[in-house]
Amino acid sequence: MEKAKVYFYENVKDLETGYDKFFKMIADELNTQEKIAIKIHFGADKNDTHLNPNHMKSLPKIFKKPIFIESNCLYPGRRHRSDEHIKLAHEHGFDFLEIDIIDGDLGRDYIEVEINTKNTKKAKISSGLQRYKNLVSVAHFKGHVAAGFGGALKNLGMGLGSRGGKLDMHSGIAPTVNEEKCTACGICAENCIADAITVEDYAIVDQDKCIGCAYCISVCPETAFRPPFGIRKGNEFLESIAEYALAGTIGYNWFYINGIVNITMICDCMRIKQTPFMDDIGIVYSKDPVAIDKASLDIVTEQNNGVNPFLKNNAMQEHILDYAEKIGLGTTKYELIHL
Ligand code: SF4
Ligand code: SF4
Repeated sequence: MEKAKVYFYENVKDLETGYDKFFKMIADELNTQEKIAIKIHFGADKNDTHLNPNHMKSLPKIFKKPIFIESNCLYPGRRHRSDEHIKLAHEHGFDFLEIDIIDGDLGRDYIEVEINTKNTKKAKISSGLQRYKNLVSVAHFKGHVAAGFGGALKNLGMGLGSRGGKLDMHSGIAPTVNEEKCTACGICAENCIADAITVEDYAIVDQDKCIGCAYCISVCPETAFRPPFGIRKGNEFLESIAEYALAGTIGYNWFYINGIVNITMICDCMRIKQTPFMDDIGIVYSKDPVAIDKASLDIVTEQNNGVNPFLKNNAMQEHILDYAEKIGLGTTKYELIHL
């Protein structure tokens, strides 16, 4: 496979110009009259190290119909349903484009995409993705507690999966209930479309009936459901993310930008303030999701005196790059072009 081109913009004092250059490069390849979707993470409540929307204000000048897209998250919080999710995005400054939460108001809308890969036969992809043809992943490159690091592959895989898809990637099994927290209110059972929950003294999930939609996790007012994080072994978790990324890219025209700024050890899903542990580096652009993550990781490692700072999160993290290459998502071989 040929080397992928990865473009590197390093002037961290003027990132607006960098985004502007990259958006124009994308526009040159497209009919800019068509709708273009920007897949982004708006940052969890209290997180202030997410990507800065002010750097992307040229979007409506370059494209005729740009729109931000995102999906709801797996666990309870302000990002678990569309209305509150959009309010939070606006509070974080993502208020200059329309926002489309692609797994629906309640995070339940998905289509099954048959990919027949090692861990995923049919991926549960947010159905609203089908509304778009041309898309840009704008991902924050930083650490991730389970995956090691997060960039384009994570933005695609975890970010395009529906709530059930996210559960699938994390665990592959149904949620369970913490009996001590459950008040037996019955809300989860009323909302379970698979009729998989019975409530007596506390709620019990029938593991055979459960379809893994994860809706119960978000409706429970007591946060009594335990998403079974960590059940998947390290490599299976990484492989599942790559498999979902594959499912979310087949048939679409994707471009990728990673912001290597505000580099924190854990991700923007955490509802806490974080402090970046190294200086901002710049932004990169590529048409290859594997090459852009490999290049981003190499750049961070080089700037950190040759040591990958995210190894403490997951020592096997680079497996996602090799596996993504193996299943045909892209290449780990790249040419870095300084702008
Ligand atoms: S919604 Fe939560 S508290 Fe209510 S029955 Fe279900 S698990 Fe228990
Ligand atoms: S994950 Fe979905 S199907 Fe399974 S128990 Fe919860 S609501 Fe029901």
